[in-house]
Amino acid sequence: MNSAINKIKAVVLGHAIGDALGVPVEFNSRESLKKRPVKNMREYGTYDVPAGAWSDDTSMSLAALDAIADGSVNFDAVMVGFGEWYYKDKYTPTEKMFDVGNTCAQAINNYFLGKKSIEECGLTAGNSNGNGSLMRIHPFSLMAYYVDGMRNEFEPFIEKASALTHAHERAKLACKIYTLILFALLDNPCKDSIKLALCKSSAHYEISREYSAYKRIFAPDFDKLPESEIKSTGYVVDTLEAALWCLLTTESYKECVLKAVNLGDDTDTVGAIAGGLAGALYGYDALPKKWLETLIKREYIEKMCVRAENAWCGK
Ligand SMILES: [Mg+2]
Repeated sequence: MNSAINKIKAVVLGHAIGDALGVPVEFNSRESLKKRPVKNMREYGTYDVPAGAWSDDTSMSLAALDAIADGSVNFDAVMVGFGEWYYKDKYTPTEKMFDVGNTCAQAINNYFLGKKSIEECGLTAGNSNGNGSLMRIHPFSLMAYYVDGMRNEFEPFIEKASALTHAHERAKLACKIYTLILFALLDNPCKDSIKLALCKSSAHYEISREYSAYKRIFAPDFDKLPESEIKSTGYVVDTLEAALWCLLTTESYKECVLKAVNLGDDTDTVGAIAGGLAGALYGYDALPKKWLETLIKREYIEKMCVRAENAWCGK
């Protein structure tokens, strides 16, 4: 059944599963993963956490979702959630925060310790274009899709959501392109929707000064690039490219997230972003049962999705 709640759960849990699959092999090289590819949820590895443990990608996404799940938009409440995660281990699978990106950490410190406002705490430098806002943008994209009147005004909303940590135009543009792709997949879950959304984004953002950074995904033959051309680093452009390339070159949720994780390097985030979009494309029922059962705090995450759906869809 492809109801709103199933779509929200497919994206949020699809993202969390991709994250959890990638956590044990984060920073592993592509070559090493070719020899011993991830095929299922693993335990330990890069971090001292059990199978099904998700990382900062999902923690920050849940902190955001928790703050906006009642249907109101209060970015200070979102930052408070990020602080509860970063300083107090809330929104973690094992009651302990175990990884954080530099830009996110600096922005959170700017807000709480530097007493900067939500408009000033995010980083604006050209070298602050990691994937740390793209990896937690989907709750905002989902809210913009479902709440009446928000969809046509999604751009300033998504920009502000990114800018809490990542305020450079390049990171914000990645979040807007991602959002247009997610909208298209929620409207019509098929691969053509991804291509159409990329065409629309290309026309719409041609005037952006950061347009050229994304020219590869806008090229009609982007999905024909060989794997050797796809980088899977924490740079936001590489991450978006890698996630979309996996989505366009596979035929199931499972195949997509495993391909994403096995690209190596920033495995959890590429897995998470590919996984959220693959959830939208293939639906909740396509998420492997075994992985859902292994995912830590799955019921907690699902309850948050139900709360959001009730508020966003006017129940
Ligand atoms: Mg992570």
